[in-house]
Amino acid sequence: MIVVMKVGSAEREIDGVLERLKELGFKGSLSRGVERTVIGVVGQTYPELADELAVLEGVADVVPISRPYKLASREFKPEDTVIKVGNVTIGGGNTVVMAGQCSVDTEEQMMATARLVKEAGGHILRGGAFKPRTNPYAFRGLGEKGLQILATAREETGLPIISEVMDPRDVELVARYADILQVGSRSMQNFALLDEVGRSGKPVLLKRGMWAPLQEWLLAAEYVLAQGNGEVILCERGIRTFETSTRFTMDLSAIPAVKRLSHLPIIGDPSHATGHRYLVEPMAMASVAAGADGLIVELHPNPDQALSDGAQSLTFGGFRQLMERVGEVAKAVGRPLAAAS
Ligand code: PEP
Ligand code: MN
Repeated sequence: MIVVMKVGSAEREIDGVLERLKELGFKGSLSRGVERTVIGVVGQTYPELADELAVLEGVADVVPISRPYKLASREFKPEDTVIKVGNVTIGGGNTVVMAGQCSVDTEEQMMATARLVKEAGGHILRGGAFKPRTNPYAFRGLGEKGLQILATAREETGLPIISEVMDPRDVELVARYADILQVGSRSMQNFALLDEVGRSGKPVLLKRGMWAPLQEWLLAAEYVLAQGNGEVILCERGIRTFETSTRFTMDLSAIPAVKRLSHLPIIGDPSHATGHRYLVEPMAMASVAAGADGLIVELHPNPDQALSDGAQSLTFGGFRQLMERVGEVAKAVGRPLAAAS
């Protein structure tokens, strides 16, 4: 349920509602929009609560939220959420490109990738230091050493960095280095991890579980939001279907569907969704045309040598071309590439 305050309500009145919610055992989540100030009621509400809150000073209306996720819903917050990472703005009418290697393999390769991402106009550098692998004997990442390499790349290029965290016990470590914490598809319902990244104070990129309906995905986002972290970026990365000629099936319609249900920014991941290099550029363009606020893509100086996801990693030339073509689409749909970081 949300409490809608009267236009121009006093701070004292807003504080009064928050105080009352606390007394009743709820948490109030304040959102000051351009048009109205609303307070989301966090907790298990009951119908009579609406009457108790409606009589408080400054309250215009108390509206039940029909969806099981509250803070993530458009009903709670009609305006798009805009997230600042360094001087990059995610959401709010721009297209942002996160790009880099699937995994940080060697320092030399990662530095070359970082320079190329910067030169081609990318905004945020990706690199996995903790890798979720289907096969336990596959390369599982360099751990902290990988994060240190990313930090060096950030220092040289100025690009903010994003890296995956899989274990709640590693959140503090990854948050010490990364500007955005990535929660991978396989971890979307690791509720302990969601709580922990919610408390980290860092923006979170929440990938869609490859098996997850939109409602479960938004409920996963709700976990992070309920911890007081409003900076969640959603990422459509493909779902499992009967099709096997692509690695997953990119659910492009999820992009406008999520935009309707939620105020959170959403980006597309054409690399994991397709699993094939030749499909990355067309699906990147399609994601932007469908309304995505950005992309996350994989590239590598020598994809044949990549320690993970080489088959879907773009070459440097492929990434340059993607940036040009995505730039055209982004301009055409009125959400041009964000200013370079
Ligand atoms: C990744 O980004 O490298 C990754 C493992 O992605 P996903 O969680 O979407 O499979
Ligand atoms: Mn990958």
